[in-house]
Amino acid sequence: MKKCPHCKATNSVRHGVRQTSVGLKRKYLCKACNRHFTPDEGFNRFRHSPKAITAALDLCAKGISLADVVSTISTSTIM
Ligand SMILES: [Zn+2]
Repeated sequence: MKKCPHCKATNSVRHGVRQTSVGLKRKYLCKACNRHFTPDEGFNRFRHSPKAITAALDLCAKGISLADVVSTISTSTIM
């Protein structure tokens, strides 16, 4: 059960999907306040896919310079 970001109720139901820049997202309808929401998976409002972001963070953690991370990510197909 997903928690409504508007009223914090947990009686939401699945209500179709929403097209976003990173693909389809499951949409929910809150039965308490009757509003739609998409669960926050920690990557909301990011321009790139979670896969690209985690790959970039992984490279940063390995001590690779930011410039090299950018060139590695932009030449790969994960964007
Ligand atoms: Zn609600």
